[in-house]
Amino acid sequence: MRITTITNWAYGITVVLTVLSALAFILSARSALQERQAVEQHLLLNSMGEELALGAEETTDEARLYVMRGEQRHLDAFTIDDGEERRRDTAVNALRAVGIPDAERQIIEQVATDSDALDTVEEAAVATYRGGDQAGARTALFGPEHERTQTALLNDVNQFRALASARTEAAMRNAQARSDLWANIAKTMLGLTAAIFIAVLYFILRRRVALPLIRMTGIVNRLANQDYSVELPTDRRGDEIGEMNDAIQIFRENGLERNRLDAERKRDLQTKDVILQMMHRLQACYAQEELAEVVALFVPQIFPGIAGSLYTMNESRTALSEVSRWLDPVHSERSFSAASCWGLRRGRPHVSHVEDNDISCQHLDESGVPGLCVPLTALGEAIGLLYFEDKTKDATAVHAPQLYLELIAENIGLAIANLQLRDKLVNLAIRDALTGLFNRRSLDEALNNLHRDQSARTVVCMMIDIDHFKRFNDEFGHDAGDEVLRHVAQIVSDTVGGAGTAYRFGGEELTVIATDMADGDGFDLADKIRSSVFTTPFSYRGRIVGPLSISVGIASSPASGPTTTLINRADGALLKAKLTGRNKTVAAFAREHEEELKRG
Ligand code: GH3
Ligand code: MG
Ligand code: MG
Repeated sequence: MRITTITNWAYGITVVLTVLSALAFILSARSALQERQAVEQHLLLNSMGEELALGAEETTDEARLYVMRGEQRHLDAFTIDDGEERRRDTAVNALRAVGIPDAERQIIEQVATDSDALDTVEEAAVATYRGGDQAGARTALFGPEHERTQTALLNDVNQFRALASARTEAAMRNAQARSDLWANIAKTMLGLTAAIFIAVLYFILRRRVALPLIRMTGIVNRLANQDYSVELPTDRRGDEIGEMNDAIQIFRENGLERNRLDAERKRDLQTKDVILQMMHRLQACYAQEELAEVVALFVPQIFPGIAGSLYTMNESRTALSEVSRWLDPVHSERSFSAASCWGLRRGRPHVSHVEDNDISCQHLDESGVPGLCVPLTALGEAIGLLYFEDKTKDATAVHAPQLYLELIAENIGLAIANLQLRDKLVNLAIRDALTGLFNRRSLDEALNNLHRDQSARTVVCMMIDIDHFKRFNDEFGHDAGDEVLRHVAQIVSDTVGGAGTAYRFGGEELTVIATDMADGDGFDLADKIRSSVFTTPFSYRGRIVGPLSISVGIASSPASGPTTTLINRADGALLKAKLTGRNKTVAAFAREHEEELKRG
């Protein structure tokens, strides 16, 4: 119940009780007044009764004294002027005037009758005495007749007094009892009012107001200090304090919500900052390995606790292979065909194993752990995939914020595309488009580097020229010539492997540079290349063409000459090979060695 309702009720009850107690006091006062009136009547009637008795005796005494002594003053006292009344008559008349009950009135009338009868006897006795019959007068006044009449009068007077006294005493007692009753009722009501007042004061002020306010003050102070962990007791009373409690509860919830939003905003800023850092580093990457390292370092910071992998697409855009991983993902294959990923097929993030109502990617195992595939695209082409998986079946990875996913996927995709573009451009600049070997510019740069290199490493240079190449062009066309060039370049590249580097010097001439290789090993490798070309069949448009042969001139540094003359010396050796019949390997080494070779 609301405090105002309680106080209104208490106020109403107090007013009603106060009015009732006032009424009771008024009634008590009225009863006290009646009591006083009863007392007054009692005293009045008592004195009148006494007057009546005395008046009766006084008249008789005066008459008797007169007949006994014969003194005039007694006669005067007995005989009263017409204007005057006897004391007894005065009392009777006064009693008649007073409002008294009929029984008492009848007795008074009887007293008046007795009084008249007594007067008649006494007046007759006085007249007898004045007529000279003293003895007769005395007999009349002291005789039985007078005695009886006077006794009857006195008896009536006494009866009246007894009746009046009994009646007024009863009236007094009644009035007093009523007065006491109303006074007690008034006191009780006043006491009740006081008790209600004190109870309401205690209940409202202490229990309903003071105690909750003290408790709330502590809570509000803690909330003011942003301590939102404070617990508010549930207040179901629905009064003003309860409303205040509800308001504080709302204030606390708002504070908690504000804190949560602040923390979320802070986290969001931190995450965006990490994404920005990652973007800067991705843009500065020179190689895909660096990019993979950056992704593996930053993505777990953006999505803490979520494992994942970065896949890149092969050149033919048919398969993906993992280039980077973080937090050890275990449910996706390391390489798989592009068709087995629904994310790549649909060109948008795809969630697997969250609910049974959607299809799952085939590159995931049957563990049922949710996985998220985010395709990486650049310039409208799929170039890779970001894969996220949860450590448990609680699908947090699949609820990764869409905005972050899009930002990351877009930036990683662009970075990969940039690197691939960069690689293409570099290849265009340093490689020969037809054979895929390094071009002449790369060769010049390599030779310059070797020239600048002061470490005096041994260098072997081979100049390779396809024998009678012009004939292929003439006989089968330039395309066939190009095919021959590619074929020979492939054999050279495969045979050299990691031992050296193959270049297209120009036209149908190739060069091989090998460092840290002994002259003898260099010659063996050159001759191996030559024999491989000669023994490897070559077919063009279903026809075996050939056999193909090459002539090789080989020179070395620093033992046989400086690096600046390497090409010329190898070229000289090549010329010798041509002049001595082609399909030969000739070294521009020391003469004795060359002779030895020739003999061999
Ligand atoms: P030799 O045995 O003396 O080396 O005879 P050869 O025919 O191989 O040498 P020659 O210098 O007479 O001819 C080289 C020819 O190679 C001339 C040129 O048209 C041809 N050629 C140069 N570059 C290319 C190319 O990129 N593609 C094709 N198809 N032919 C090329
Ligand atoms: Mg040539
Ligand atoms: Mg040639």
